[in-house]
Amino acid sequence: MIGFIRRIVTMRVATRLFLLFVLCAFVPLAAIAVLSFSQVQSLLLKQGEQRLGAAAKAYGMTLFERLQLASEVGAGLAEPMDHGKTGTVVQRIFSRVGVVGADGRWRSGAGDGTRPQIPSDARSRIAKGRPAVIVDTTGTNAILLGFPLSGSPGAFAVGEVRPEFLWGSPDELPTVIDVCVIEDGSHRVLHCPDASMRAPAARAIDSQTASALLSTGWESEGQRFRARVWPHFMREGFGTLDWIVVAAQSESYQLAPVKKFAALFVPIVVLALLLVAWLTARQSLDIVAPLEKLAVHARGIAVNNFESRLELRRDDEFGEVAVAFNQMSQRLGNQFDSLSAFSEIDRLILGAQDIEAIVRTVLLRLCNSIPAQVVSITLLNQDSADQARTFFVLPAAPQALSLERHAATVGDRALLDPDSRGSWLDVDGSRAVPFFLAHAEPYGVRAAYLQPIAWGGAVCGVLSLAYRDAARLTEEESQEARDLADRVAVAVASAWRDEQLYQQAHFDTLTGLPNRLLFKDRLEREIARSQREGATFALLFIDLDHFKHVNDSFGHSEGDKVLGESARRIAKCLRHSDTVARLSGDEFTVMLSRLHGPQEAWLLAETIIAALSQEFNLGEQRCFLSASIGIASFPADGASAEELLKSADTAMYRAKAAGRAQAIFFEEKMNREAVARVTLDRDLRAAIDRNELVLHYQPQIDVVTGRISGAEALIRWNHPKQGLVSPLRFIPLAEESGFIEQIGRWTIERACGQMKEWRAKGLDLSRVSVNVSPRQFRRPGLGDFIRATVESSGLPAECLEFEITEGLLLERGEAVEGLLLELDQSGHRIALDDFGTGFSSMSYLQRFPVHTIKIDRVFIEGIDRTSDSQAIVAAIIAMSHALGKTVIAEGVETAGQLALLTKLRCDEIQGFLISRALPPAEFERFFVERAVPAIS
Ligand code: C2E
Ligand code: CA
Ligand code: CA
Repeated sequence: MIGFIRRIVTMRVATRLFLLFVLCAFVPLAAIAVLSFSQVQSLLLKQGEQRLGAAAKAYGMTLFERLQLASEVGAGLAEPMDHGKTGTVVQRIFSRVGVVGADGRWRSGAGDGTRPQIPSDARSRIAKGRPAVIVDTTGTNAILLGFPLSGSPGAFAVGEVRPEFLWGSPDELPTVIDVCVIEDGSHRVLHCPDASMRAPAARAIDSQTASALLSTGWESEGQRFRARVWPHFMREGFGTLDWIVVAAQSESYQLAPVKKFAALFVPIVVLALLLVAWLTARQSLDIVAPLEKLAVHARGIAVNNFESRLELRRDDEFGEVAVAFNQMSQRLGNQFDSLSAFSEIDRLILGAQDIEAIVRTVLLRLCNSIPAQVVSITLLNQDSADQARTFFVLPAAPQALSLERHAATVGDRALLDPDSRGSWLDVDGSRAVPFFLAHAEPYGVRAAYLQPIAWGGAVCGVLSLAYRDAARLTEEESQEARDLADRVAVAVASAWRDEQLYQQAHFDTLTGLPNRLLFKDRLEREIARSQREGATFALLFIDLDHFKHVNDSFGHSEGDKVLGESARRIAKCLRHSDTVARLSGDEFTVMLSRLHGPQEAWLLAETIIAALSQEFNLGEQRCFLSASIGIASFPADGASAEELLKSADTAMYRAKAAGRAQAIFFEEKMNREAVARVTLDRDLRAAIDRNELVLHYQPQIDVVTGRISGAEALIRWNHPKQGLVSPLRFIPLAEESGFIEQIGRWTIERACGQMKEWRAKGLDLSRVSVNVSPRQFRRPGLGDFIRATVESSGLPAECLEFEITEGLLLERGEAVEGLLLELDQSGHRIALDDFGTGFSSMSYLQRFPVHTIKIDRVFIEGIDRTSDSQAIVAAIIAMSHALGKTVIAEGVETAGQLALLTKLRCDEIQGFLISRALPPAEFERFFVERAVPAIS
């Protein structure tokens, strides 16, 4: 109850309503109460007065009648009066009767008591035979009645009327009415049984003219009395002053019924008021409580809380308000969300964020606002509209943005109308799924809503919402899709414009190559990177020779074509990591990073010169050009971009001065090396044809049996001028130039041929190992070549072993892995050369089909001197054996090394201790000599 009241008091509207209701109920109720109260009261008083009037009148009449009766009885009396014998009637009426003479003197009788004077007018009246009333004013106000006495003229009788006869007993009067009789004029009280009434009654008469039936009243002993006056005319009938009858009654008696009524009425009114109060309080709460909730939620909306819902389950107007309010707050929430999403997108656009960030935000917004299975944005490429990329998300994971690239076919693009305000497309298998919905196909979508993204009247993409089931979009949703598409269009347009500006600022319009600005920027970055990593790189400065002639003889537009074509040719010679730029006119620069050595730069420069020396086709005419290239190396030829460019430029002028069409290093020493290498390279290329290459064979011995288990084929170049050239000199060169491929094939063919020859001679060599360089191994076609060669030689595959290096395994290239598996499956053995110098990962040994591990010379060399080497060799042997591989120790030169290796259970050894690599004829001899003791 207290809580209830407290709630009412705290709600201002409820308090006001409550007071209003209570007032409305209370005022009429109170008015009715007061009105009916006073009405009843006045009615009761009126009734009381009527009763009093009637009582007064009736009393007066009774008095008159009694006096008349008394006078009639008196008239029957005669002189002399025998007092003793007077009848009982007389005695009952009169207390005494006397005779008065004509002179007014009393003659007889009259008993005891005073004998008042009979006034003359009364005497004369009696003389005329009419009765007269005389009030004995001398004493007790007794009432005397005079009447003629028959038989004695001149004398008359006077009788004192018994008060009990005349006034009667009070019981005769109606209840609780008191009566007084007062003589008019003298105001003498003749009769008044209630002594307390005497004085007020007399006073009341005083102020009244006793001429009419008048009401009056007084206050006595704290009580209010009401009275009615009845004047009774006595002069005519009894010749005396009029008598006034006053009948009185206490007001409280008269109003007694009102009190009863009030006793009942007040509790009823109070009860009714309480009921009204309670009902209004309840009703007010009923009205105000929802208002209060509404206020709370409205305040929530004011602070952007659109989530909470007004819970009012009522089927009245409040219920309707709640529903409407919830709809409103939901819509406001949606609008707020979309406004904030839009402003976020606008911020991103203005902040020139990359398009992906904007697309991500747009897709996130779409996921939140329009439910769909797959939501995506497809953007056509700026430069080639037949290529597109689609960003998409699944609303289940809106943060995971996926990207797909695809060709944008003309037919599919025709589905997108730049002026479209959104349309539906069925994906029901009746037509091929368009490229911009290909990503959604795996999710089983059947229909898609498409909003093309258009800018300047051209479609630059499409926003699509894909659905598994039939779906509809509200007008609001499609409007939002349009708005978002427009935002994306603006973003795309601004990105394209930025891209265009960037292109203009950083790229050469004629060739599409980076310009000087961008090139210098990249050069500086490369310098910083190389400094950080301690790496080197080279810079080529290319200048076309006699390009001026092209312009002069063919015109500038043809000259431009030549420049474009030159740019393409230069780019084609380079690797992915290299950068080519056009500085100005016919000047190009190339940055070559991640070089194995400066010589690689020189070779590339030579390749570029060769490419530019090819003829240029200018319609009907032909033109030949060449180029001069200057090479600068970082950090040797300059520490800054400017210095490097200057060095390369200087070198280029030297190349021009030296007769053009050549590449020259800024550093002289490098040029000499380059020349030497070029010569060597040129000679090597001729070496195969001139039969200058030979294979020597180094035997491999089984540690346990001491028998020759195999031989490694090692190449030698019998140079006409330089004599026997070590493979360490020409193999790396051949690797760089790519000539290694031919050398490799030659080696395999030669080794096979040699093996076949020896077998034919009965030389029981079970295995020959051939070194395969990484570059050779990576080239496609090696597998086929080996198979064909081995097949044509008729040798079993297991007698041919291939030595590869760890680096190949690290590459994890599919081609490398495939070839290894293929060789293994064909039955060839694979040996891992120089083991221990590379990354030496045992996990690779397990994974790849490698049969033999060749421990590198450096470990064997130190095996009897350092415990480290010994530990490493012991570990390699143990692990290789655990993996089931054969171990060969390379470069064994001393008996001590052999003893240690035997102890460590090494399988085979190879080295000068046994033999150097020997020419075939010598190897044959060695083999036979070595075999003899074994046989014997
Ligand atoms: P490799 O494969 O490690 O060959 C072993 C090298 O160690 C050979 O040098 C061999 O003569 C030398 N050697 C053998 N026993 C000892 C010894 O006890 N002490 C010392 N100090 N050296 C010893 P070579 O013939 O000069 O070959 C050098 C490298 O050239 C080879 O190293 C191999 O990587 C490469 N190579 C040789 N022939 C070919 C070939 O036909 N094709 C390819 N791709 N590379 C080859
Ligand atoms: Ca080898
Ligand atoms: Ca080796």
